[in-house]
Amino acid sequence: MLTDTHAHLCDERLRGQLPGVLDRARAAGVGRIICVATTAADSAECLAVAGEYPDLVAPTVGVHPNHAAEAADGDWDRVVALAADPAVVALGETGLDRHWDFTPFDVQEDWFARHLTLSRATGKPVVIHCREADADVERMLRADFDRHGPVRGVLHSFCGSWATAEACLAMGLYVSFAGMITYKTADNVREVAGRVPSDRLLVETDCPFLAPVPFRGKTNEPAHVALTAAELARVRGLDPDSLFSLTSANAARLFFPVS
Ligand SMILES: [Zn+2]
Repeated sequence: MLTDTHAHLCDERLRGQLPGVLDRARAAGVGRIICVATTAADSAECLAVAGEYPDLVAPTVGVHPNHAAEAADGDWDRVVALAADPAVVALGETGLDRHWDFTPFDVQEDWFARHLTLSRATGKPVVIHCREADADVERMLRADFDRHGPVRGVLHSFCGSWATAEACLAMGLYVSFAGMITYKTADNVREVAGRVPSDRLLVETDCPFLAPVPFRGKTNEPAHVALTAAELARVRGLDPDSLFSLTSANAARLFFPVS
């Protein structure tokens, strides 16, 4: 069984085709999909999709850093209220992004801090987006870690340095890899992916974005997580089945802890 730990099933490119998309995921061996929210409205939608496919899909709620600027009054209260739903397995995606300039950086920091605080209050892990902001993400996680101890969460679609990964692993975080690991030029991503400890490794699609080779440039979907996982297995010298069950066990520990 495979777990796609990061899928935007409510994106317009996937939402209308979900029966087919999810059938293909099951056929590819995907047993669980974390449906990741990007806005308050999308959070409610992720919960609705999870309600339609409770055996396969588990939702997060949160506001993506690139969407924080467009959040309306009351959106955060809505996320907080939705986070109390027992079906919700994580918060986010949140984090920091210096590549795009959709949200002023101090506003991104404010929203990231809110998610970290909500994670401590609910006990649910955080899904973290980090783009060209490694030092800033590490600084904010460090502040949270210094006050409260190990951080439950994942650096998703990781493409940063080993130094960043190592610092975040030491604070308790998991590291997840997407289709980029299959791209010819991504030697740096493969190098980091080869070094993450086995018990902290996750795989994802980040669909509809970042489709792995040979689907690069096309609409990505959860079934393609098998290609990313197979490449990760190759990088780590494992047979694919071992890698599949290893990463699914890690996902279960992070997102579905037995209390
Ligand atoms: Zn995402």
